Amino acid sequence: MFRKKTVRDISVAGRTVLVRVDFNVPIQDGHVTDDTRIRATLPTLNYLLEHGAALVLASHLGRPKGRPDPAFSLRPVVEPLTALLGREVAFATDPAGPDAQAKAAALRPGQVLLLENTRFDPGETRNDPDFAQRLAGLAHIFVNDAFGTAHRMHASTVGVARYLPAVAGFLLAKEVDTITRLLEAPARPLVTLLGGAKISDKIKVLHNLLPRADRLLIGGGMANTFLAAQGYRMAKSLVEVQARETAIALLETYGDKIVLPEDLIVADRLAADARTQRVTVAEGVPDGWMALDIGPATVERFAPHLRTAGSIIWNGPMGVFELPPFAQGTFAVARLVAESPGFSLVGGGDSVAALHQSGLADRIDHISTGGGATLKLLAGEPLPAVEVLEDRA
Ligand code: AMP
Repeated sequence: MFRKKTVRDISVAGRTVLVRVDFNVPIQDGHVTDDTRIRATLPTLNYLLEHGAALVLASHLGRPKGRPDPAFSLRPVVEPLTALLGREVAFATDPAGPDAQAKAAALRPGQVLLLENTRFDPGETRNDPDFAQRLAGLAHIFVNDAFGTAHRMHASTVGVARYLPAVAGFLLAKEVDTITRLLEAPARPLVTLLGGAKISDKIKVLHNLLPRADRLLIGGGMANTFLAAQGYRMAKSLVEVQARETAIALLETYGDKIVLPEDLIVADRLAADARTQRVTVAEGVPDGWMALDIGPATVERFAPHLRTAGSIIWNGPMGVFELPPFAQGTFAVARLVAESPGFSLVGGGDSVAALHQSGLADRIDHISTGGGATLKLLAGEPLPAVEVLEDRA
């Protein structure tokens, strides 16, 4: 359940609203190459405009070093945003300086001003109160719709909420609501599917998911460490020696819930033209070789759990899916998740990319737009930028 106020709970007519959006989009030669994140925030922006607000939009882009850097300018966003909103978008050449102040003060209901990259100011990532106050001074109300940066304690995500009435936009509310509902009251069985490179990045996620989940299917590099802990030969595979104790402890406590690979695609090196073969886990990885994908028998082992799931949470690829010989496991699992009748949540850049590549994205119930923020919620940790919003009565 989402316990914070949203744009629906406040009156915005005639007010200027500062909206923190996530316009951290890929840009090449001055053009936005993927506008997914801009589209994702349109429901909130259109709602506010239809209800008589003027908008000041703030976002970061990339990692400039606290000073203006043309390579990270948000100006290229003006054109696609203008087209998507169907109205003119003005641009301020600073995030909260004289240009932003003059242009924000002149805004009339229905008008939109996009600020320059918030990270052009050194106060942004430091959550500096002075910068937060200058941002707040541009508007009457603060709306946060930037789920992708909600795990960061920055001036435009957390600091500014001290100085203005602060509520959530639709995207932020939906993301948090969907993920927390799945954790608190999932349709059962809840089947979680974790992959990716390392256990160490996701220890908190494992500890939070395992007590709640009915099953945890593990693939990718993460599975290697579990298999090695069980004594299987992993040769040159990515294995985290320091996570061995964690893996053993998790297997002891939750062994009946954890489902591991039974076969692997192994290669003599990490390359698209490497020599490859399928081995069973019992046979082990040949000396000098490495496990880079789950095998077809593992997909078959995972399949019945995914087919009968009430809900699915998937994060992380099943192999090095960036290279075609090691992408089959991830794509097969993506298909199973898409075909499952259960409610499916997919989060994390790589699993989402695999879904888009396989053309299955529209068959997933909820694709999370956040990487770090999604993992933090799955780990059961609060998001600082959500905590500071006003509680619903
Ligand atoms: P993560 O960010 O933790 O979800 O990890 C994603 C990365 O894990 C991808 O770039 C994959 O190439 C990588 N990965 C998945 N399986 C393996 C594996 N078996 N060995 C090495 N890397 C892997």
